[in-house]
Amino acid sequence: MKKRIITLLLAGITALSAAACANTEGTSDGAAPDTAQQTEAETVKIAYLPITHALAVLEEAKELEAEDGLKIELVKYGSWAELTDALNSGNVDGASVLIELAMKAKEQGIGLKAAALGHRDGNVIIVSKDINSIEELKGKTFAIPHRQSSHNILLNLALEKGGLTVDDLNITELAPTEMPSALAGGQIDGYCVAEPFGAKAVSLDVGKVLYTSEELWADSLCCGLVLTDKFIESRPETAKEFTERYKAAGNSLDAEKAKETAKEYLGQDEDVLDVSLKWISYSDLDITKEIYDSLTEKVKKYGLSENPPAYEDFVKNDF
Ligand code: ZN
Repeated sequence: MKKRIITLLLAGITALSAAACANTEGTSDGAAPDTAQQTEAETVKIAYLPITHALAVLEEAKELEAEDGLKIELVKYGSWAELTDALNSGNVDGASVLIELAMKAKEQGIGLKAAALGHRDGNVIIVSKDINSIEELKGKTFAIPHRQSSHNILLNLALEKGGLTVDDLNITELAPTEMPSALAGGQIDGYCVAEPFGAKAVSLDVGKVLYTSEELWADSLCCGLVLTDKFIESRPETAKEFTERYKAAGNSLDAEKAKETAKEYLGQDEDVLDVSLKWISYSDLDITKEIYDSLTEKVKKYGLSENPPAYEDFVKNDF
């Protein structure tokens, strides 16, 4: 009996090997392997969350889809934790991600580079309608998407204006999509998160803007276009073309085009987008040393990290 099972297993292995050989042979002659390699080389797999902060890469994907050559495979995630897992484990070539999350991963030894900003400005501090000043947030509950975020820094900056610190209120982490309903339901008293989820509270009339990001931090950074070292090193020409087209797509996103692309990819109401897109811009997405240094200074000051990566190690501007 035992012998028969072994014989059957061997037969199975032989059959599998034959099938594998057949597959190899099928792609090893003529033009087939070249085509397969070319297709792989020209597709860039990018993770994103369905937020307006990712519009530059969504716009780029849309533009490239209509042309021959380079293509983007968009991989949508529902939370920063899931997206970061995919990025850090190399399951994607890059992501539009909170830059502080990528900085933290880099600090922990993950091979990542920030090639561009996701957007400029575009965040707001939202509070419930009965709160009229930052001082009134004392003892209240405030939501941010992640400790490693510009939303956390913006909260710290806003609190400073009222002589408060994060120790004066309860901070909770929620996924972006959950925040407007948590505010409407009274579980939280305010939040700061990627758009259009701030605008959603305004549009639903359950919250109001206490500060815009420009009022707290001039030229604030938030999301970045982050690529894996593996992708940059194994396909440098593709990485270069992808990044150049990304920045061009960002520059092309005027209000009208941004709304059109957002409607297509984000499934948000038009009136929410009308409110949200007034706060953000996608032009000039280069990460300069000056704005990066202003970020690292805040990251250290507000306790996000003691040792953020140096500009030279983390930002790639030399494609
Ligand atoms: Zn952002």
